Amino acid sequence: MAVIRQEKRRLDYKKPDFTITDIDLTFELDLTATIVTAVSRVKRLTEDRKIPLVLNGDSLKLLDVKLDGAECAFRETENTLELDSVPDEFTLTVKTCINPKDNSELMGLYVSDGKFCTQNEPEGFRRITFFTDHPDVLARYTTHIIAPDGAYPFMLSNGNLIKDEVKDGKRVVTWEDPFPKPSYLFALVAGDFDELHRDFVTCGGRHVDVYLYVDKGQASCGTVAIDSILRAMEWDEKRFGLEYDLNRFNVVAVDFFNAGAMENKSLNIFNSKYVLVDAESATDTDFENVLSVIGHEYFHNWTGDRVTCRDWFQLSLKEGLTVFRDQEFSSDLCCRPIERIKAVNIIKGPQFTEDAGPMAHPIRPDYVMEMNNFYSVTVYDKGAEVIRMIHTILGEELFQKGMKLYFKRHDGCAVTCEDFVSAMEDASGIDLKQFRNWYSQAGTPCVSGSLRYDAEKKQAVYTFNQSTPATPGQSVKQPFVIPLSMALYGSDGRKILLKRNGEPVSEVQILTEEHNVVVFDDVPERPVTALLQNFSAPVKVEYPYAQGELETLLKCADDPVTRYESMQNIINSYIVLNTVNAQRRLPFTHSELVVQSFRYILEESGLDNRFMAYILRIPPVNTLMGLFTAIDLDAIIASRKELVRVLSVELADIWEKLYQKLLAEFRQRLAEGRGYECTEEQIGSRDLIRVALNFHVRGLVLKGEEAKASAIVSGHYRISDNMTDTLIALNAATAHNLESRHEILKDFESRWRDNALVFDNYFRAVASAPYPDTLDNVRKLMEHECFDLTNPNRVRALLGTFSQLNPECFNDISGRGYEFLTEILIKLNGTNPHVAAAIMTPMLNLNRLDIKRKGMITDCFNRIMRIPGLSDSIFEKIDKAFKQ
Ligand SMILES: [Zn+2]
Repeated sequence: MAVIRQEKRRLDYKKPDFTITDIDLTFELDLTATIVTAVSRVKRLTEDRKIPLVLNGDSLKLLDVKLDGAECAFRETENTLELDSVPDEFTLTVKTCINPKDNSELMGLYVSDGKFCTQNEPEGFRRITFFTDHPDVLARYTTHIIAPDGAYPFMLSNGNLIKDEVKDGKRVVTWEDPFPKPSYLFALVAGDFDELHRDFVTCGGRHVDVYLYVDKGQASCGTVAIDSILRAMEWDEKRFGLEYDLNRFNVVAVDFFNAGAMENKSLNIFNSKYVLVDAESATDTDFENVLSVIGHEYFHNWTGDRVTCRDWFQLSLKEGLTVFRDQEFSSDLCCRPIERIKAVNIIKGPQFTEDAGPMAHPIRPDYVMEMNNFYSVTVYDKGAEVIRMIHTILGEELFQKGMKLYFKRHDGCAVTCEDFVSAMEDASGIDLKQFRNWYSQAGTPCVSGSLRYDAEKKQAVYTFNQSTPATPGQSVKQPFVIPLSMALYGSDGRKILLKRNGEPVSEVQILTEEHNVVVFDDVPERPVTALLQNFSAPVKVEYPYAQGELETLLKCADDPVTRYESMQNIINSYIVLNTVNAQRRLPFTHSELVVQSFRYILEESGLDNRFMAYILRIPPVNTLMGLFTAIDLDAIIASRKELVRVLSVELADIWEKLYQKLLAEFRQRLAEGRGYECTEEQIGSRDLIRVALNFHVRGLVLKGEEAKASAIVSGHYRISDNMTDTLIALNAATAHNLESRHEILKDFESRWRDNALVFDNYFRAVASAPYPDTLDNVRKLMEHECFDLTNPNRVRALLGTFSQLNPECFNDISGRGYEFLTEILIKLNGTNPHVAAAIMTPMLNLNRLDIKRKGMITDCFNRIMRIPGLSDSIFEKIDKAFKQ
């Protein structure tokens, strides 16, 4: 049978023919046969009475359908339940049976480690009951959960707890959510947990009970998460004036989860990875992630739940905005420049890669086959950059005015990105007509600039040309509105005040044309130009920096992102030059500039440890690939290795001294009995010690002193009192293939094999090592008792790391990496295709790779395309790759 696959188009949106105003749901819980009774109040919205009621369904066993309590005629197709000639208003009762235990896709109601939980975004609710499963149908939900008394101590759903009673040995718990919501925000949880509780009083005086539910015995790992909820509540009141609106807020952590977390109204469900942390088992990054993900989901209560998306093409309406809000939250609470650099790295790495590949799409896509494929870095992270640009253009005050108008107009509604931009426009009086191109056009714009300095007139005249490469389905692009934040420096490093016609002007220049001229007056000398301060737009910039200019910016710029980017530019020039050398089989060119810049940062800059660690970061191979249209992977890897070699060897003394100094401070902390703390200061020391240790060890290995390197790393492992330092040692041991890796891995395994989240670090360390036996080791680990192909966290840790973070082994010219992943994708297609589609991303680069690799990936893709029952998730990606 031929499979008919259809893309949906954004412009085909039609208002719903029916709405459901209220739904009363009863769940009789059973692991393999849960009975769901849905009693819905249905209302016809269309004039045309011939139009049938069409409800969506997926993998449901239909038991009964009644209309106003009586038998009625209906049609059941593979994915719908249809009723002809229904009244204008009626009550529909649908009884279905579902099997949560066998729900390996983890969409709808499923079982995670013996606990019931749900994931309904985007289209999971149709796997619970037949329903108008679209975000523009908003209903009030009442939920009754029934189970044998004592079976599940906690039975939760959205809203307020109304009743909890035991009848005939069965416990019935009833929840009622007064806020109408789309079905994707419905949630149910049942199981046994440890419960944490906090009180919160909102700015308006409402008392809120905040609860966090974690696995039994894990309560001590939940305190950071529950305290983060209170910080998020407080911050949203202060910065956005947004107050929590119910008397109860619940967060539940589960082990089996496809994504990070889900913002179901008043019952957020989290991947335990973003909840469970303690000083002993979590890394600094884990701690920071908990704060930002807790914040993100909580902030959705307003940007997502109270005002939701009209259709899934509008996903960035809630995600771009909420990522922007969580970035601001972390920036206000932690270290702003570091948070900004983290966000920039996502854009310049995976997002630019997506823009250059077959899946390139605007932040508001036009065509979608499988919605799960569009929970992308483009919709989320570039979406956040687009909101940030609006913020930059309007300023905080007008932006907040726009937010207020947005809520005033659309509270309780399902709306579009257009509605958001209109609110910003109307509140600020600033025309955003052309700005909307960011919503409709895909791809990364490139701004190429040049400077003509007129010494006589003391004028700096800049020319900026913007162009955006064609992306699939969009060959011609209109110019974008690009806020370009600029600063001019004199040769002495002092900032020159920006003036035009005698008046001071803003640093943010708004480019709107294909060709733009920007003039500044009263410029006393040819200036050194900082472009794109704070990464003010998600664009690539080309500018012919003269000798010494990048160094000046590195040393003198007052914007930390400019300093960071200057170093990245210095590194990138080196990589490009030596990649070309490698391709032509010429010797590598030595760059004094890179070495001197590193030396300056390390010895003279006076930067704090954390920022220093970031600025010394050499971009990963995946990001460096973005510097080229055609990717010569072997040449890029070779030139990056050469850079690491040069820096390790030429600065060997500095690395050693730095490592010794930081190690001494570490020892001092231990000696004074000061424990691990997740403070900026301590994190900074660990970030920098990681950099120093790796360069130091690499230098020793290159000198043939492998035994010494091995001993240093195992020494670091032994003295560690925290997971970050432990992993610094573990990863160094595997990354440099040191003898001590055997002993360290063995010790780590014996200590942590019972803690799956921590043990994922073991999988990651092994899977990311760039050595020939890595693939065999990964294969072996698939047999490990801690590995489970049905748990997305394990799959991402072992297989996702191998495919996404180990380009060297994954793209090995033998093709073994591709063959291996193909086997996995075929297996996962049958159980959890969404996770499969996420880890196959690196293969989508095929059109930019060399002919041999392209041929091998094509063969693998052809094999996958022939398997029966291929999911839309995987099909859509391969199909687009073939068409690019
Ligand atoms: Zn979100």
